[in-house]
Amino acid sequence: MASFRSATQQLRRRLGPRVAVTGTARFNASFDGSKLSFLPDAVVKPRDDADIAIVLALANKHRVPVTARGAGTSLTGSASPLRGGWVLDLSGWNHIHIEADAGLAQVQAGAVVADIHRAAEAKGWFYPPDPASKQYCTIGGNIACNAGGMHGGKYGVTRDFVLALKGFMPTGEPVTWGSGTKKFSSGFNLRDLWIGSEGMLGVVTEATLKLIPLPAARWTLLTSFTNEIAAFRAVRALFAQRVQPAICEFLDRHSVKCAESATGRTVFAGQAGRPVVLIELAGTASEVAEQKKVVLAWARGRAAAWRVARTRAEAEELWAVRRGCSPAMFKLADSKLNEDIVVPLRSYEKCARLLERLRRDSGLPIPTFGHLGDGNLHVNIMYHRDQPDECRRAEKAVDALMRGVVALGGAISGEHGIGLAKTPFLRLQHPPAQIRAMLAVKHALDPNGILNPGKMFEIFKVWEHPRLAIKMPWDHK
Ligand SMILES: Cc1cc2nc3c(=O)[nH]c(=O)nc-3n(C[C@H](O)[C@H](O)[C@H](O)COP(=O)(O)OP(=O)(O)OC[C@H]3O[C@@H](n4cnc5c(N)ncnc54)[C@H](O)[C@@H]3O)c2cc1C
Repeated sequence: MASFRSATQQLRRRLGPRVAVTGTARFNASFDGSKLSFLPDAVVKPRDDADIAIVLALANKHRVPVTARGAGTSLTGSASPLRGGWVLDLSGWNHIHIEADAGLAQVQAGAVVADIHRAAEAKGWFYPPDPASKQYCTIGGNIACNAGGMHGGKYGVTRDFVLALKGFMPTGEPVTWGSGTKKFSSGFNLRDLWIGSEGMLGVVTEATLKLIPLPAARWTLLTSFTNEIAAFRAVRALFAQRVQPAICEFLDRHSVKCAESATGRTVFAGQAGRPVVLIELAGTASEVAEQKKVVLAWARGRAAAWRVARTRAEAEELWAVRRGCSPAMFKLADSKLNEDIVVPLRSYEKCARLLERLRRDSGLPIPTFGHLGDGNLHVNIMYHRDQPDECRRAEKAVDALMRGVVALGGAISGEHGIGLAKTPFLRLQHPPAQIRAMLAVKHALDPNGILNPGKMFEIFKVWEHPRLAIKMPWDHK
């Protein structure tokens, strides 16, 4: 790793104690949720816009890599500073202002997503994107990864709620993309180029988010099916009836087992060994009442069994089981290749067959759960890191998964992004002309390549790199 000592000394002279170079500060910023660790030379906690301008201008002059950081919950290594340099920690930038009349939220990049939810709800508004990491992750990280969540099928993902972004070009020049208005047709749309760019095109400091009215009514239903194909087929039939659940979560039978063993609770009494689909309707009382009739008729005709949550507390219990299934998978093996593929609705059953084939061929546990509203499935390839044979089989399985998903017309990532973990597969998704166009944009906006270098386009093989054996706060949940 190159040393950026003299540039770091200059930065310390300019920003003083806001530049940390202690071992602990550097270690803590060296990794994200992927547990891939690369030590930065310094961690900068900017006080204001002027600090950020200084950091980026100096970095540009001395070609120092800069990795913007929110909460470090990325699962792909996108926030791990692969080439060292400076980590720009925006976690302290957490101001939230709800413009109640207009249904807008002005938020700083480090605002935690669950805090935005709470602030909006307190004023009768709803911000739908809800990654499972919402108690930790920041809106800056969500914008950079175009994060999604359980509500994606009905309401959309982060991109669908961002009206304007403020921030800095890699050169240190301030910019604003879009405005706080709901319409904007004034020039090239670099706002949307920044969204999902994983901190490689600019640094976000502030965003204006669109809010929608808080749904007045919710209704939750648990259904079970004889097998995964039956579940997928049934969900397709439901959507064909023009029903749009706010949430439509699927747990295959392996995930159900994991959730049960972790929580000590039975997901659906009498339905052991069966996949489940959890449905939540949301909207006005009359909208929910209308859709409820259709969904109940559908459940009677299609599901092996179904159960309505009678109270909000009962619904919450069902959601707790859903949330518990991901950490529970570490009971199966100590390592996980955590994929977040997307498949089009027409390919749901083919995807179920693909997953069965991968399980059979690899001999590995591959519990899968996810958001059927938008086809975003979390495929968890479990393996033991100290078993070279299992590592090889996991590597083969992920390769076959990605090829299969692209062949089904899907996407290799729906919400986590590419980072380091998915770099070997980017070219399956994008032919050379598309990769060239993306690189041309990167070069035009960041000619010295200082923002988050080494991510997305250079091939990195996750399974060849050691990962930290530490517990993250969310591993305990
Ligand atoms: C338990 C768990 C559950 C998760 N569930 C979901 C889920 O349901 N849906 C989902 O989408 N993701 C999920 N994730 C992944 C992760 O939470 C998201 O990718 C999230 O968007 C990252 O936010 P962060 O603040 O932690 O960003 P970080 O991890 O700090 O950074 C992620 C990327 O964003 C860039 N970045 C951060 N801040 C800025 C900024 N201000 N300007 C420019 N670039 C910036 C970084 O450089 C990096 O490339 C989950 C993660 C965990 C650990």
